[in-house]
Order: sequence, then C-alpha cells, then structure tokens
Amino acid sequence: MILWEAHACLPLHPQADFAPIAQFHAAGVSYVSINIGMDMNPLSQVMATIAGFRATIASQPERYVLASTVQDIRDAAAAGKLAIGFDLEGAMPLLEEPAMVALYRSLGVRQMHLAYNRNNSVAGGCHDDEQGLTPLGHRIVAAINAAGVLMDCSHTGRKCSLDIMAASSAPVIFSHSNPLGLVEHGRNVTDEQIRGIAATGGVVCVSGVSKFLGTRTPGADDVARHAAYVANLVGVQHAGIGLDISFPQPGLNDDPPGDYDPSYWWPASAGYDRSAIARSTYPPISAWQELGAALQRTGMTADEAALVLGGNMMRVAQRVWG
Ligand SMILES: [Zn+2]
Repeated sequence: MILWEAHACLPLHPQADFAPIAQFHAAGVSYVSINIGMDMNPLSQVMATIAGFRATIASQPERYVLASTVQDIRDAAAAGKLAIGFDLEGAMPLLEEPAMVALYRSLGVRQMHLAYNRNNSVAGGCHDDEQGLTPLGHRIVAAINAAGVLMDCSHTGRKCSLDIMAASSAPVIFSHSNPLGLVEHGRNVTDEQIRGIAATGGVVCVSGVSKFLGTRTPGADDVARHAAYVANLVGVQHAGIGLDISFPQPGLNDDPPGDYDPSYWWPASAGYDRSAIARSTYPPISAWQELGAALQRTGMTADEAALVLGGNMMRVAQRVWG
C-alpha cells in the first residue's frame, strides 16, 4: 500500500535537517511532497533551498529517491526507500514567465499552486479581495498542464480556484485544504470547490493544521473526519491526505530577507493571531500509522481507506506526471 503525504514544510534553507523526513519514512510513508518556496520567498532563496534539498537527498541514496514518475514511487517503496517530490506555493517565483514551470519540473518540482493567500499578477489568494485567474494565469496553467506538474489550488481564492479548474486540461488537486462545511475559516474550501475538484478527476487532500481542523490537539481521527466529509460529498476516490506539518529548526532562520511582513501573508483579520495561544499545532508524524484505522472508524472499508491514504493521488499523478 502506498501512503502519499501531499505537503510538508522544512525550513526553506539549504541546510535544513531532514530528520523529520526520516520520521515520515519510519512511519511507513511512501511519498512526501516537500515545499521549496512560497510567494514571499525570493528566487535566490528558492534556488538555494532546492540545491540544498537535492544534495541532501543525493547524499543518502540508500534512504531517499527524488521521484520523477509514479513507477519511481513504487520502486522506492519496494526497496524500502522514501520517494520525495518538491512543491511550489505560489506563482511569484515563476517571475511571470510560463517557461519557468518546466525548469522547476526539471529540478524536482511536481506540484504547484499559483497564489499564497494574497493576490498576485497570476492568480487570486484566499485572504485577499476576490480576483480571478488573469490572462498570464491562463498561460501558466497551460504551462503547468504541458509540463506534467500537478495543478494545486491550496491557498488560492475561491473564484480563482474555480477558474483554474475550468482552465486546466488535467485533474486539479487541493494538496492541503479542509472543508469549510466542517470549520469556518478563509483557508478552508467550499462544497462548490470540492465538487469542482472532483469534476476534474482530482483529489482534495485534507490538512492536519489545528485551526483548519477546528481542534487544539489534532490527531488521526480529526484528519479522518475531514477526509470522510470529502468522501461523503463527492466520493472516496476524491479524498487524500496532506498534513502540512511544519518543522521549524532552532538556529536556522528561513525568513525572507528584506522588509518581509508576516502579517501581510497571514493577516490577523483572517484568524492568524501571532500570539502563542493561536499558533498552529499538528498531529505527530506517527499519526500516519493510525490514519488507516481512523478512516475505517468513519465507515470506510480497508480498500477505501487505502485510496484516501495514497491510491487516489497515485491515480492522479500517473495521469499528470506521465
Ligand atoms: Zn501551505
């Protein structure tokens, strides 16, 4: 059985410690998508991060594989290794150049969304004024389809996400987004958005982030409840998991240089109080070992749970990555 973790965050620093990634491996995860940049990160930081992560992966060939294809993931699992892909959170590191998509793909990026919470010249963010997909955005969606990269809509505004689903010639996913029908938060997605993803043949991967799950101490049962909501709404073949666990590492500052303002990207008005009491918490990585049973407690069969844990994303990646 393949376990697919659709989104995890290390410090965006070339020296980031891969110890948390080793924990995913130990928990039985087969594939993990690691973030290599967001809209607030300059290209210099994104490129240095990709270079550092690639070097770390290459230095441990007995443990890690940078996956190009779904077959690479199957082969890695059969060999007891963890397959890794990179994901980009926002189109700004594309420098308004659609040809950058294929370059990122060649460096290991397998999944992209186009706006990180705020609007940009390509797409609308979920914590900003409503903005659809721009003419440049249409060209970039076409480039993502042509390059064989997973089209993601997490962090994207509602209208824009529907525009992307209509424009994309390939299945579209949410790599880490939760149902608004369960928890009222601007980062969560409406039933209309979930139905839109299903209509493309895609997958909604639910996160493990406390404020999006509506609990202070998230665990496998909370994540399973959100996945079951998606499954009940549009079918079990459209639900997946992207816990979005973030791993700050003391002594490794990955803040973007310059006049970076966190309150712009995570506005207090959208529920991102920076005080400790409101800070996000996540399930432990070991929750991956409990998710199968938790999904079955929602009423799924073992085969249905296996689809949610990884089978569905394998189907979509097979189609998109080629
Ligand atoms: Zn994110």
